[in-house]
Amino acid sequence: MLRFPAVVECAKKILLGWYCTPIATDSPAITRPNQPTVGYNGPVQQLLRDHFGYDEFRPLQEEVIASVMDGKDALVLMPTGGGKSMCYQLPALALDGLTLVISPLIALMKDQVDALKSNGIAAEYINSTLSVLEIRRVQALAQSGELKILYLAPERLSQSGFRRFLDGLEISLIAIDEAHCISEWGHDFRPDYRNLSSLRQDFSNVPVIALTATATEKVREDIVAQLALKNPKVFLASFNRANLTYRVMPKRNSYEALLAALAKVRGESVIIYCFSRKDTEEVAADLRDDGYEAAAYHAGLANDVRQKTQERFIRDEVPIITATIAFGMGIDKPDVRMIVHYDLPKSLEGYYQETGRAGRDGLPSECILFYTYADKIKQDFFINQVRDDRERANAQEKLDQVIRFCETRRCRRAYLLGYFGETPASDTCDGCDVCLSTKEEFDATVIAQKVLSAVVRTDERFGVGHLSDVLRGANTKRIRDLRHDRLTVFGIADDHSDDEIKEIVGMLQDRGLLEKSGGQYPTLGLTTEGWSFLKERANLTLVRTQTSHESEDRPAKGALDYDKPLFGKLRDLRRRMAADRNVPPYVIFGDNTLQQMAYFVPQSLDSLSRISGVGTVKLDDMGEEFLSLITAHARMNNLQERSNANASAARKGRRNGRRVNRDGSTYDLTRQLAAEGLSLSEIASRRGLSEGTVLSHLEQLQQANEPLDLAGVLPPPERFARIRDAFKQADTTNLSPVRNILGTDYSYAEIRAARLYLRQDRIAKSKR
Ligand code: ADP
Ligand code: ZN
Repeated sequence: MLRFPAVVECAKKILLGWYCTPIATDSPAITRPNQPTVGYNGPVQQLLRDHFGYDEFRPLQEEVIASVMDGKDALVLMPTGGGKSMCYQLPALALDGLTLVISPLIALMKDQVDALKSNGIAAEYINSTLSVLEIRRVQALAQSGELKILYLAPERLSQSGFRRFLDGLEISLIAIDEAHCISEWGHDFRPDYRNLSSLRQDFSNVPVIALTATATEKVREDIVAQLALKNPKVFLASFNRANLTYRVMPKRNSYEALLAALAKVRGESVIIYCFSRKDTEEVAADLRDDGYEAAAYHAGLANDVRQKTQERFIRDEVPIITATIAFGMGIDKPDVRMIVHYDLPKSLEGYYQETGRAGRDGLPSECILFYTYADKIKQDFFINQVRDDRERANAQEKLDQVIRFCETRRCRRAYLLGYFGETPASDTCDGCDVCLSTKEEFDATVIAQKVLSAVVRTDERFGVGHLSDVLRGANTKRIRDLRHDRLTVFGIADDHSDDEIKEIVGMLQDRGLLEKSGGQYPTLGLTTEGWSFLKERANLTLVRTQTSHESEDRPAKGALDYDKPLFGKLRDLRRRMAADRNVPPYVIFGDNTLQQMAYFVPQSLDSLSRISGVGTVKLDDMGEEFLSLITAHARMNNLQERSNANASAARKGRRNGRRVNRDGSTYDLTRQLAAEGLSLSEIASRRGLSEGTVLSHLEQLQQANEPLDLAGVLPPPERFARIRDAFKQADTTNLSPVRNILGTDYSYAEIRAARLYLRQDRIAKSKR
């Protein structure tokens, strides 16, 4: 009964089987991280700094970019969060002409384009959510040559009129995102993706880059064939997600354990996967009772409710989602800090994909799985209702693999990578419950002999529960019926507890001496090694692990010891600015960037520009507002700026000596000038700040309940009246819906100024 090799074979084939197999067709060598390639220094590096504010490439990005810039076709395989987008966004900037990006994820396009625009990159999208008029506007932009990146939904490509439009453009690169969608062998086949082969023919000289996070060997070959990739370079990143910590926890007092885990990431984004719709509702309700904002998400909810919940999650309005697996597919949120599996995932592929949604921004994030064997039995019940024999066996096999993962005492990370056919760099890590626990060696020779003997004496026909009963000499009806109380092994380990014996059985499985059958009632049997261990009477040392709570509470590896209150304030500012601009908060700045701000406490625009993620455009656009907040917090709390050694020479002096006046409170100065009746533009020019920053000072003063004189700042009466009406009509305090009503004749600054007054008015009324 050697099932294990079959499992390995199967696992290899499922997701990334071709890791192990040399690529057969016209594909050349695979490029993996750390292989020396020609570095591409110069313009590309500069673009990374200026537009994205990053100093370094992630693994393989630089190699991919160099190859694309060379005009070669490429197939890029990177895990979620690996940084695939950069592989075509940077070349798009560096190359003349337009880059087309084909993506099936229509819901994400707007956010992706907003993110690019916020970095000063001319990007647009065309999909079915745009009106004919809007599409015409984007097409005109593309034709004028002003656009660098155009996102397209694949179904456009079947329209002949649209194809004619494309034919008239200067296209320098075609990027195919989610490239596995082209293959019928994949899990997410989109017939529209088949239009891409003709696109390829029309633009036969334009390099194509195909990107995906999942592909089996078949799918990979299919991508290369369907897209007619020419001698493509294949880039294969490691699928190790180093910033994720994996923990499997026993499902005892799991709700308390959940609360304890959530306390560590209060206010940050968390997804909790539950077994059933009912569970999602119940857990969300319990969490709300315990003071956590949480919302349920499952297929039983109306479409618009689901939409709204997802939107609120993306916009940081609700931090915790309890969900069935349906949640998370179409979202790109980079700062999900924790993924909880409150019940067993259905497969390890699913588990890897779901946990993969944590920490796309590279910051430390947690994955917790609550495990009890009882949950397996619950799922068995559903599996048994599957009619089709093969399908049922397949589902059972997948579930058994999940159980093995939960029960292993090996490094979880090494186990996962091995499962997907990757050879892990090490068989331990510093980011899983097994490796983080303290270990104690003990001589297990005698107890192992007893356990294995009991397995043999009961003819390898029983599971761990019954074996433990036999070994401990339990007086159960089953034992009496089977006459197992007459066996020589009956009661020979009565100095051990049930838990201890089960633990040892698990260790013997890990050691390869015992193996467990799959199916609903798994039985234990000896492996060949188990038999020879018994025969040779060899010595055996085992390692017992104890999860130390100390290690759970240590600051996550790689985490900065940043100022938490400042980080909280920065997040609030980010959320307000995002709401005003109608973009998700992460488009303003990522958590990574805010944490660095809260660690380095920059006191000048120059220092701020050295923070990773602060590109030139964002510095100009939002630098002053963030800086004002940081300097005010630093002054109140006596914080000093830390020097940021990462600063690269190229970024220094990017701002030619523009400085915020930090004598006296910058807020106070703004308030005084407003009190003198100066207009917005006068205050701005007097202070050398942007109007946006002046407004943000006033908004922050208002939030702090400081008295404000706004007469000079207000737009003229008739314009003010129109703005007030538009706020009423839009029934919101966000700016962009109001601007949509008013049209481009009205500036955001004017609308913001009017909003200040309307708020002041409301506060005054509420006090009366
Ligand atoms: P993928 O599409 O592979 O899941 P993304 O392209 O969405 O990954 O990138 C994930 C995150 O990593 C994004 O927030 C992105 O801004 C960030 N990122 C990408 N490249 C870099 C880099 N070189 N340095 C720092 N952050 C990066
Ligand atoms: Zn580990």
